[in-house]
Amino acid sequence: MSITNLSKSSFIKGLQCHKKLWLYKNHPELTDSIDTNLETIFNTGHVVGELATELFPGGKMLPCDELSSTQQIETTRQWLEQGVTTIYEAAFSEKGVFARVDILHKGHDGWEIYEVKSSTKPKPVYVQDVAVQTWILNQAGLTVTKSALVTLDTRYRLNGEIEVEKLFAIHDLTQDVTDLQDFVQVEVTKLQEMLQQDAMPDVAIGHHCNKPYQCAFFAHCHGAKVEDSIFNIGDIGQPDSYALYHAGQTRYADVDLGQLGWRQRLQVESYLNQTDHVRKDQLKSFLDSLTYPLCHLDFETTYMVAIPMFEGTGPYKQIPFQFSLHIQREPNGPVEHVEFLANSDEDPRRPLLEKLAASIPEGACVLAYNKKFEAGCLENLILQLPEFAGRIRPLIENMRDLMAPFKNKDVYYWKMNGSYSLKKVLPALLPEMSYSELEIGNGEDAANAYLQMRESIDPEEIASIRKNLLRYCELDTYAMVKLVEKLHLLAKV
Ligand code: SF4
Repeated sequence: MSITNLSKSSFIKGLQCHKKLWLYKNHPELTDSIDTNLETIFNTGHVVGELATELFPGGKMLPCDELSSTQQIETTRQWLEQGVTTIYEAAFSEKGVFARVDILHKGHDGWEIYEVKSSTKPKPVYVQDVAVQTWILNQAGLTVTKSALVTLDTRYRLNGEIEVEKLFAIHDLTQDVTDLQDFVQVEVTKLQEMLQQDAMPDVAIGHHCNKPYQCAFFAHCHGAKVEDSIFNIGDIGQPDSYALYHAGQTRYADVDLGQLGWRQRLQVESYLNQTDHVRKDQLKSFLDSLTYPLCHLDFETTYMVAIPMFEGTGPYKQIPFQFSLHIQREPNGPVEHVEFLANSDEDPRRPLLEKLAASIPEGACVLAYNKKFEAGCLENLILQLPEFAGRIRPLIENMRDLMAPFKNKDVYYWKMNGSYSLKKVLPALLPEMSYSELEIGNGEDAANAYLQMRESIDPEEIASIRKNLLRYCELDTYAMVKLVEKLHLLAKV
């Protein structure tokens, strides 16, 4: 049997599902399209990986982009022969399995390998990842005395320059990885034999399609992304979508409604009959809980930022850099707009809180869409800047959630199709309002635009991004104003 080449990442794919690995090798064109969030995650990984090399300074970096896999392996071999003791991205291939080691370092007793992840804690899949690398190095005749994982340490807080020893946590996985060596050997053989087959492995869809990662062939295997797929039933509980699927109930029309909770049943029935529902008593009770002045508030925050940018913050802390506020001082009164967007070169936290504190009237009722998020942002900000606590805490305590009537299904339109996100609710209730004309259409785009603005030195580009960010955030709170008006109308009908 000729040995098929595997890489450590294809080994991990194969552990999740043989069909996934087979499709990846034979039909990569069937993968779901990559989204910008995943690109952000990949970029984050590169930045973190580079910074982690400073844990072992003075090593040699393999120029992977300039070399073929064969050249990478050969260069690594030459460097080891020359006595290089730290190599970043050291490349090996043994028994048909290729892997690069993020950091290969010669310790007192032998070689140490460090796999760097931009995650904040070890996961079982990372242990398998380090285990297969260790297996390859063992096959190559290197004595591996330590196999470790490097993650970000959530306890770290930026204080001046980045301190890499504090930013990263090193997890010694040597014992776990040693215990997995026989398993790796068996699985490598199984996967290589599987890849020799012309026929695609017959694997049914199931919970493994989402663990440890959502499979890149998810859409392909689960059928077209049709609106009435049972995989679109929101908060389904038991029986779950896979149980329905394997019982032959793949579309809404197939579902035995008696199995579903009332919310899921409402979703399926409303969709099939194209009907909308309003529970007036519950809606009136929500509207009665709103007092005036009423302030519609929305934050935009940083997203997936692994390396802290501002003093006192840690890895992946979401920092608000922008808000939009629509203030209505009395029922049916005029609406004023106030906004804030940090300058590209400043720490946004203090000026944002100053403007917010100056803009929201004393005793106002603050309305957010998903108040857990906005309240959480404010809680974090006053932890970092406690001098604002006296002014900001009453705002948190008097905050209401505009998402509640939709989440509770007090107002449910069939076009929402089980979702209560603003991006689904708005076109269902107010089809004349749309984000489609905007350059920035969601929170992740906004966060990416903000980072781009901070990195830019081109005044025109900065001005253009500012304009787009301001338009996007303003639309979010204006949409909330219009939704409240619509809810009042629905409560009266
Ligand atoms: S979607 Fe599921 S069954 Fe299909 S390849 Fe991926 S993991 Fe395997």
